[in-house]
Amino acid sequence: SQLWLLIQILIGFPAAFMMFLIVIALLHGLRRREQKILELSRRDGLTGVWNRRYLIERLEHEIAVSRRSLKPLSLIILDLDHFKRINDQHGHATGDQVLVQAAKTLQGSIRDIDHLGRYGGEEFVILLPFCDSETAVMIAERCRQQVAAIDIRIDGHHIPVTASFGVTTLPPGEYASGDLLTHSADLGLYRAKAEGRNRVACVPIDGTGLITPH
Ligand code: GH3
Ligand code: MG
Ligand code: MG
Repeated sequence: SQLWLLIQILIGFPAAFMMFLIVIALLHGLRRREQKILELSRRDGLTGVWNRRYLIERLEHEIAVSRRSLKPLSLIILDLDHFKRINDQHGHATGDQVLVQAAKTLQGSIRDIDHLGRYGGEEFVILLPFCDSETAVMIAERCRQQVAAIDIRIDGHHIPVTASFGVTTLPPGEYASGDLLTHSADLGLYRAKAEGRNRVACVPIDGTGLITPH
């Protein structure tokens, strides 16, 4: 019976070990799938940048980080100019192509730690952690130039693409709700549109600022 026990151990141990490996592999696969689904649920289907829901979640997080670290947090809202015209003149598919290209261009114009999201139809938001007002305006201006330089051609002719930008900054150590921050940036966007589009307007958090000269 001692031989029988030895046989049992020799067969049973590798079998148990195999089972253990299989369970580990299955759990690993499940976790990877879960992570992939979570990532997808945070992305905009057309452009691949963050979607509105995740951006709002991220904004609350960055406000908390800013407050704790005594660092500024800047927010940019931008909206493509006369986008309806592009759709009307060239079709919805071309409009979509412009949105994808604009998202790609914006992503290429910001830092790794910044968050770009699609906030609405042709409206994007960029969160800039640890970024003061002057730097945020500089980055917005760079984005503006890069978007204006997008070269999309339909039947050989160039389709002009420009955007207007609103910028606001949460000063170091201060607190504002995500709503107040987006509202202030939105005010900047509104002014940039009113002043003639294709420009950057910076508004302080209390919402009574002036347009930066351009
Ligand atoms: P403004 O310079 O004042 O922003 O003018 P605008 O034409 O860009 O603004 P408006 O809000 O009148 O038009 C936005 C258009 O964006 C209307 C809508 O059909 C279009 N749009 C919204 N989402 C999408 C989308 O996912 N794909 C395409 N192709 N068009 C979209
Ligand atoms: Mg627009
Ligand atoms: Mg719009």
